Amino acid sequence: MSHQLDQIVSEVAGYDPNADLALVRRAYEFASQAHEGQTRKSGDPYVTHPISVARIIAELKLDVSSICAGLLHDCVEDTSATVEQLSETFGKEIAYLVDGVTKLGKLPYSTREEQQAENFRKMLLAMARDIRVILVKLCDRLDNMRSLNHLPPEKQERIAAETMQIYAPLANRLGIQWVKIELEDLSFKYLYPGEYDQLAAEIAKTRAERLEYIHHVEKLIEKEMSDNGVPCEVTGRAKHLWSIYSKMKRTQRPFDEIHDAIGFRVVTDNQMHCYQALGVAHSTWTPIPGRFKDYIALPKPNLYQSLHTAVIGPRGERIEVQIRTNDMNLVAESGVAAHWKYKEAGADGGREGVRPEDDKKFAWLRQLMESHKELRDPTEFLESVKIDLFGDEVYVFTPGGDVKALPKGSVPIDFAYAVHSSVGDHCSGARVNGMIVPLRYQLRNGDTIEIITNPNQKPNKDWLKLVKTARARTKIRWLLRQEQRDKAVALGNDLVEKALRKHDMSMARAEKGLDVAAKALKCQNVDELIVQVGYGKITTQQVIDALPGIVKKGDEPAAKPEGVFKSLIRKVTTRRTQSQGIKVAGEEDVLVRFAKCCSPLPGDPITGFITRGRGVTVHRRDCDKGLDLDPDRRVEVEWDGASKAQHEVAIQVLCTNKPGLLAHISQCFTDQGVNISQAHCRATDDGRAVNTFHALVRDLDQLKQVNRALSRIKGVYSVDRVAAEAT
Ligand code: MN
Repeated sequence: MSHQLDQIVSEVAGYDPNADLALVRRAYEFASQAHEGQTRKSGDPYVTHPISVARIIAELKLDVSSICAGLLHDCVEDTSATVEQLSETFGKEIAYLVDGVTKLGKLPYSTREEQQAENFRKMLLAMARDIRVILVKLCDRLDNMRSLNHLPPEKQERIAAETMQIYAPLANRLGIQWVKIELEDLSFKYLYPGEYDQLAAEIAKTRAERLEYIHHVEKLIEKEMSDNGVPCEVTGRAKHLWSIYSKMKRTQRPFDEIHDAIGFRVVTDNQMHCYQALGVAHSTWTPIPGRFKDYIALPKPNLYQSLHTAVIGPRGERIEVQIRTNDMNLVAESGVAAHWKYKEAGADGGREGVRPEDDKKFAWLRQLMESHKELRDPTEFLESVKIDLFGDEVYVFTPGGDVKALPKGSVPIDFAYAVHSSVGDHCSGARVNGMIVPLRYQLRNGDTIEIITNPNQKPNKDWLKLVKTARARTKIRWLLRQEQRDKAVALGNDLVEKALRKHDMSMARAEKGLDVAAKALKCQNVDELIVQVGYGKITTQQVIDALPGIVKKGDEPAAKPEGVFKSLIRKVTTRRTQSQGIKVAGEEDVLVRFAKCCSPLPGDPITGFITRGRGVTVHRRDCDKGLDLDPDRRVEVEWDGASKAQHEVAIQVLCTNKPGLLAHISQCFTDQGVNISQAHCRATDDGRAVNTFHALVRDLDQLKQVNRALSRIKGVYSVDRVAAEAT
């Protein structure tokens, strides 16, 4: 076993002369002790697995931290070792990598659809944050696949399916072609054992023949090229099993009819020779129409360059030919799958589900891998490479294991609406990973979300402040507006009905008349008229006035006919408050009145109540009187920020009863630019004075300023906002 360690150490020393090899040895010792007594399904000591993983990591020429993470990757999950312990022993970085690999291993994957798989892959990348976590995980998976034969069949199938859908494409994205190919063929073996064996046998049977054929064609191409003055090197290569099998499936043809299972690559010295080589190929063998691609003149976004063509070969079969320069070959071959997109699009018709913007991100990642190959010191590259590829999104699971991608900062309500709008509408709570969370909880990558619904639950306005998705916002807004409208309709009907009755009419009998009245009052129809009455935008008196053929029985009485004085007050109040900067259910210019009990100011949280005939009364949300009112008459109201309206508040100032102080206080109001509309002063027996001022202020901020200024006056004990009615 220490022989294996020596192999790893000498390999790392080979590509990284500055590597801390002692650290690698320590990680090996730690893992050996931690896994002491554990065995693999094969009967081998467990530690052989992390060692194999570390060897694959060394093949990828990754840094010492990655090698150590490979050796230690199963310690936290399978032994008594903790992340803290690793952090103390090996440093934060290695502990972070191990922790990352452990977390990825715990994600419940159970997918069927390609889109789901794509989201899951992105979730892995988003969670990994550090690209090395993904690389270590890939190496772990590769070793697991290599030793999959020791597991029971159902496990083999599950792991193989996951590898095929998630890890092979990830390896491909990262440009590690050989890992991708090996993962695919191993998965193929366990997913379709019959087909795999048959194809492998057929290929083996024709192996000698094929090698001979490859050699023959290589020589043939080389000769044609050199005869035409194109110096080049030609290599032929059989495709891997899975890719041949995919092609058989796609074209519905048996193996012996898949003739382009072998591809040839012509590598020459310069660009001009590439085009000459193409000319030679096309004049020697018949080109297959539609198969020529010029990626030299039009390089792929990731800089891949090559000429692709297919011809009818020397034995009448199709062969694929790629022509490129040495430099281009380096880019394509340097472990960077510069042409992964092309291959995938060709292989499965582009069903990969990759968004163009994601494509750019992967291209960036590939470039990263590319630059890594050129660096002599791998630590230089990987040291602090943190990936934040999908930082704008968060990936979470449904209880059924589906992955949903949501904007970062999304809350359970967003998730609920993403599942179904009825789930959103009745969302009353959420469990995240089995724990109840508040609705403002921000979803995190890998969370499993379960929405608790309640048929009585309805969206409320506060939800709009929480949600991140447009879908949730739109649905909530629509429902809130609908709800307000329903209330307005009920109230409007009620009010119009009553008004009509006073004139010996009914809704049914006044139907045609209401039509006319609606038009006269610029409403589209009677329904609209009723809504407007409900919102208080049109009074019942206006409706009655506009109603043709009605026998007028005098004016509609005031809501509280308690004498001329009261009704005068009401009119004054009504007129004054009409444009006081309140929106009711998002509507402006609704008849609004501020409750005297609590005198709300802009800045105060508020609630509105629909009243009979007097529009909407606005209370502070914490007002006791407001809380007592019928919840069915509640409407959502909000301050209109643009309004410059003044609001009356009552301020009680308790001070010592001293000559001149009142003048001082009154001057203080003036200094703050606040007008006093009423003042009431009373001396108490104990030599103090209670002064109540009704002042007009803009908003809560101005009131606070006034209060602060008043409090600073010498002789003032206290300054309080009081209910206007109490005075
Ligand atoms: Mn493992």
